[in-house]
Amino acid sequence: MRYRLALLTTRGVNAVSRRLGRGQGTVAGGRAGLAVDPQLLQHLTARRQVALVTGTNGKTTTTRLLAVALGASGASVVSNETGSNMPPGHVAALAAAGGTGRRRGRSAGLAVLEVDEIYLPRVMAATNATTVVLLNLSRDQLDRTNEVRMVAARWRAALAAAPHTAVVANADDPLVVWGAGAAMRVYWVGAGMRWQLDAVGCPSCDGRITFPAGGTWACTAGCGFARPVVTARLATSGDGPALPLGVWADGRSLPIDLTLPGRFNQANALMAAVAAERLGVEAGAALRAMSTVEHVAGRFTTKSFGEVRARLMLAKNPAGWSELLELVATSSAPLVVSINARIADGADPSWLWDVPFERLSGRVVMATGDRCRDLSVRLQYAGVAHTMEQDPPGAVTAAAAQGHDGRVDVIGNYTAFNDLLQARP
Ligand SMILES: [Zn+2]
Repeated sequence: MRYRLALLTTRGVNAVSRRLGRGQGTVAGGRAGLAVDPQLLQHLTARRQVALVTGTNGKTTTTRLLAVALGASGASVVSNETGSNMPPGHVAALAAAGGTGRRRGRSAGLAVLEVDEIYLPRVMAATNATTVVLLNLSRDQLDRTNEVRMVAARWRAALAAAPHTAVVANADDPLVVWGAGAAMRVYWVGAGMRWQLDAVGCPSCDGRITFPAGGTWACTAGCGFARPVVTARLATSGDGPALPLGVWADGRSLPIDLTLPGRFNQANALMAAVAAERLGVEAGAALRAMSTVEHVAGRFTTKSFGEVRARLMLAKNPAGWSELLELVATSSAPLVVSINARIADGADPSWLWDVPFERLSGRVVMATGDRCRDLSVRLQYAGVAHTMEQDPPGAVTAAAAQGHDGRVDVIGNYTAFNDLLQARP
């Protein structure tokens, strides 16, 4: 009874908030449902096989790629596509997918859920997840998020207590390796990691981890903590093939031919392919299905502002920035950088000092967003000539005027990105 009432409450609140124009209402409905039945997430996943995706960067994209790969095989797949990655968002997505049939949401099939890093242990326990994908861990939202080693330790404890859960983990991130290390079954993936500064302290012995050339790493204090042997690795054009490949230890080499740009998305796709295979879809078929994804929650979408075509990208922290700076280095379009420091971004923008903005030297750069002055000071110290324009759409137009073909690259952090995505063109 309580379960049925909770399900009706979730759907009812979401329907009302959609009607009132307050978005999809996913969080409001999920919260209301969980207030009626705190076990609602358990009930909604009782008959589903659940895969969870977490990590500081890439979880929305990887969740989408995995859901698409599994869906292409004909399976019924539910996913929290709006990016609401805490239990109210999970409940809302599952309740909406349940249909109105006799079982009222308890239908069989798969659920692929993006999970906030800190909530992973709780959601694992509630959903009885069979597969967990661990992407990376780095500092993010400095005033809110727990210190990364504490997050890794919590993952480790949760996985040690879940012997039936298989883990797909990035072997190139020492904190992820520590977090996954107590699991019974781990598929290690050589997905790469450009940002290493949050992982130099050994979580096993408090020694120091070094990253010599060649993509390996190890603790120098001799505790034995080192990069594990991988099931599959990403081979990019930098080390041979023209097209990026997933190279499996069993001898398979599969092309990763995505519409989504960037090395980090190829890594996300490889992680998703290994997870898909674990869930019954052959990796080659999974990667082919992923190639059709053009953008995820607006990321990498091209939006028109009058005559200007702006490619919108999201980077929330130094690790995300170091990947995107590499991506935009191949473009000569003017670059608009928009920075806010609202609640969803983290109120402390001091992380700007860790981003290697020096690499933008020589580009046309426009600083915008609520915190364009903080950004401007940072760019000044990085030796990057730039202009400042407080209004983001105005900055896009002004930047295009300094280019030659009406194309602009835009990178914003969380709310800055969403503001531009939703701005009237
Ligand atoms: Zn050590």
